[in-house]
Amino acid sequence: MRAVTFQMPGEVRLEDKPEPEPIEPDDAVVSVEAAGVCGSDLHIYHGRHPVEPGFTIGHEFVGTVSAAGDAVDTVAEGDRVIGSFVTACGECYFCRLGLFHHCEQQRIFGHGEISGALQGAQAEQVLVPHANLVLRRAPNGLSDDAALFAGDVMNTGHFGVKQSGLKEGETAAILGLGPVGLCAVQAARRAGAAEVIAIDSVPQRLEMAERFGATPVHLHEQDPRAEVKNRTEGRGVDVCVEAVGSPQALDLAVRLARRVGRVSMLGVHGKPCEVHMGLLWNKSLTLTTGLANVIADFDEVLALIAAGELDPSPIVTHHMSLDDAPEAYAAYDRHEVLKVVLKP
Ligand code: ZN
Ligand code: ZN
Repeated sequence: MRAVTFQMPGEVRLEDKPEPEPIEPDDAVVSVEAAGVCGSDLHIYHGRHPVEPGFTIGHEFVGTVSAAGDAVDTVAEGDRVIGSFVTACGECYFCRLGLFHHCEQQRIFGHGEISGALQGAQAEQVLVPHANLVLRRAPNGLSDDAALFAGDVMNTGHFGVKQSGLKEGETAAILGLGPVGLCAVQAARRAGAAEVIAIDSVPQRLEMAERFGATPVHLHEQDPRAEVKNRTEGRGVDVCVEAVGSPQALDLAVRLARRVGRVSMLGVHGKPCEVHMGLLWNKSLTLTTGLANVIADFDEVLALIAAGELDPSPIVTHHMSLDDAPEAYAAYDRHEVLKVVLKP
């Protein structure tokens, strides 16, 4: 089968790989029909997240179950399914508490040995461990583009808003309008935010946020702090979702939040980051962080997408063939695309 593999920083390549087969009783194999290229794939592409040369990458997928072990009972051969980008065993201490995102045996598709040596989904087929937890049947009529988001990006945006405790009538700021930030815009609108202020420096992203019902604010051409003050009687926003992962973004998030406000940090910070803790203390801020609990929220997010209450499909700007993966990565790296979906 054809599979997109990491080679070296700046180079991915299509390779021929053996087709996977179920090994454990709760394994399934999915014939991939659509696979997303994600911001975290770019970390791999740049060599910031170490992956062995020849390892198959990709972790967002929709497809059809082509084989399943005896213990798989929530999906069956022939079912159209969506995968969570992260696995969980269902049995460890954290899984028993429903904290699947901290499973002691967690593995992430397509992230190399360091993340559990689980081959990725930008391929014709993918082996799925713990299929009862990791896969969900796709609701009838739901497009691949929309369904893909339930197992990662929309689930993460939704999680960021949920963790912030955003209530109806409150004002939210979303900092960073990549696919996750744009999904957070939708989730905040759906949660009943009176206003969502969306901040970024890329015009195309600001336009998309506006289309999703947000007030766009340009990070450099406007003054985000002044804009937020003007819209909140000088107080700052009730909730700020940081979806960038830079020290500057986190600092701004802390400054945009009102006193006794909440900052929800979705951005992945790979390095130590200086934060003005005195400001957090003075403002009595609550800071929530961490990976989304994708498996816990899977059904909820999928139902919202299926009902059209959340519709991430406009975020997909490009469809390309698996063969064009090298070009897809290069274009993504040049910020020419918002979300690419690869079709095997
Ligand atoms: Zn992803
Ligand atoms: Zn577990």
